[in-house]
Amino acid sequence: MSSELMWEKRQFGHRARLALSPAQVRLMDDQAHAARTTWNLVHDLWTMTPKCQRSLSRLDQAIRQARKEIEWLGVLPAQAAQAVLKTYVQAWKNCWDKRAEEPGFKARIRTVMSVDIPQGRDLQINRVHRRWGVVNIPKIGRVRFRWTKDLPVGKAANKDNRITGARLVKDALGWHIAFRIQTLEPAPEPHTGLEAGIDAGVNLPLALSDGNHQDHGRPPRLPDGTADRDKWLKADEKAKLLRLEQRAAHRKSFRKPKERTSNRLRNTYDQIKQLRATATRRAADWQHKTTTNLARTYGTVVVEQLNITNMVKSARGTIDEPGKNVAQKSGLNRSISQEAWGRTVTLLTYKAGRYGGTLVKVPAPNTSRRCSACGFITPGSREDQATFVCKNPDCGWSGNADHNAARNILHLYRIGHTVVIPAAGRAVVRRTRGVKPAAAK
Ligand SMILES: [Zn+2]
Repeated sequence: MSSELMWEKRQFGHRARLALSPAQVRLMDDQAHAARTTWNLVHDLWTMTPKCQRSLSRLDQAIRQARKEIEWLGVLPAQAAQAVLKTYVQAWKNCWDKRAEEPGFKARIRTVMSVDIPQGRDLQINRVHRRWGVVNIPKIGRVRFRWTKDLPVGKAANKDNRITGARLVKDALGWHIAFRIQTLEPAPEPHTGLEAGIDAGVNLPLALSDGNHQDHGRPPRLPDGTADRDKWLKADEKAKLLRLEQRAAHRKSFRKPKERTSNRLRNTYDQIKQLRATATRRAADWQHKTTTNLARTYGTVVVEQLNITNMVKSARGTIDEPGKNVAQKSGLNRSISQEAWGRTVTLLTYKAGRYGGTLVKVPAPNTSRRCSACGFITPGSREDQATFVCKNPDCGWSGNADHNAARNILHLYRIGHTVVIPAAGRAVVRRTRGVKPAAAK
């Protein structure tokens, strides 16, 4: 064994909100629309050109010409236009490798507004204050952003530790910058901590097999027993959301079929989106803190492989087979969706690796119905959402239902009953049938 440190290359992103003035926001919007149109032009040209004549240089030529001739396409920096072309070509490669569907046109609505800054040296980042940094955005100028993480800039930057580029993305809360960061860090020592099974419950957000649990103090149900639809919002925010939803429904009732959405209605929709985005951020923040904590504490983390889409899909049913308890089930669905189990697993996967630990998945069936003391599935053991009382006359173990499931999950791992984890990556979410994941190669 050598005592030399192993070094590990790491690539990750860091997102910060930009402090843009209203005028700059309009400029950014223009750039994003130009980027989207460039994509559409490229796609149009590609699909119109006969197969034998398709080539990259032809697309490149077309982009250059369009930027010269169409004035409002010129607001997009040339580098960003090149990045659109690169992304488009990559989209086809992903399709040919059966990792994604064919690229298509990007609609004005429902498309995420984004502009790429492919070269890190264009950014010229400075830290100007304990809490603020300044970044150069092409054709916009110097823009402040909140400094919440030490970035490899200035003297800290070198060949191995640097920012390689960024992407500007707009969501309900405004324009953000996502830095692409590359670092060289010492590889972590293998984690010697304990093993833990984790169950995602509705009553306990994350129950651990050793009797601990991770809670965010936001119960799934309101005091009157109904499911809490927006548990990450405060009381006044919930009231505001209700008011906005009522206003939206009222305004929508005046809209005739095929009539454009009025500016007022769109404004209300935007406000609803902002509140929802706030809720999502709070949930993600809790997940980040919790998963970091788990990855630091435990050497091996065992989770069950759940198919969330199938779990939440079936509330309303179909016309032929209407669902039962639709209202109750859809309330539960909202609770499951709000816990965002899939994201927890994604975060745990890379965080466990960063602290030298491992994440293992086990098959899900019956982990919540089986008794973790005697191993039998006896009907009626799951008394309600929260309690598990074993109905096996020789056992009679009782305890929290979520802890019981977590113990079962750990047991499945210990007897070697694990599933192969596909590498984390894109195109696993909206994959059609017959399309293989990136890791299958
Ligand atoms: Zn039992």
